[in-house]
Amino acid sequence: RFISFEGVDGAGKSTHIQRVKEAIESRGHRCEVTREPGGTALSEKIRELVLHDDMQTRTELLLMYAARVEHVETRIKPALNAGIWILTDRFEDSSFAYQGQGNNPGWPECEALSQWALNGFCPDLTFLFDLPVSVSMQRVTARQGQTDRFEVRPQAYIELVRQGFLRRADEHPGRVKVLDAQQAEDAVGKQVLEIFLEFMKF
Ligand code: C5P
Repeated sequence: RFISFEGVDGAGKSTHIQRVKEAIESRGHRCEVTREPGGTALSEKIRELVLHDDMQTRTELLLMYAARVEHVETRIKPALNAGIWILTDRFEDSSFAYQGQGNNPGWPECEALSQWALNGFCPDLTFLFDLPVSVSMQRVTARQGQTDRFEVRPQAYIELVRQGFLRRADEHPGRVKVLDAQQAEDAVGKQVLEIFLEFMKF
């Protein structure tokens, strides 16, 4: 089974991923945590390019999908076929939010590219940690030692990104579960576990 964790920066994705991982392993299943962009040696190289080099927005989108195809075909699908659970810190919804809604190329271009590159492959379950943009920006500023070109993006852009995530949730209500990440971390964590346990029964 394949679960993605999405949302603007500072929403607490990594903490909740660790909790779900523990829940899976305590039930005797194998589980791997990965991330996007990244997750394979080649995809991590692409991540370095995307995070640090200025480029055309279309180039950015294409590189995200190049990294994703490698990730899906060489790591995610083989693991799933071997019965290993995969938890990913970001997946395709981030491309729709950051590159599709936040930038040109746009939503229809993302849909076309997605169809061509992934042919409908998607997570079984997605947690979307939704956060007001001002809170996201405060939390990111409070972090230390992070430097990539995306950390200086204007608030208006991050607003679009948040709307993009919520639009994906509207379009895929069965898969995407929206959580209010402004609540205390433990409260969010409890909701994550409830949703996860419900999902395990399928
Ligand atoms: O989540 P993580 O911190 O690894 O993401 C690195 C940066 O890349 C973040 O600032 C995120 O906003 C950005 N990103 C992006 N488009 C994506 C995925 C991540 O702009 N599709």
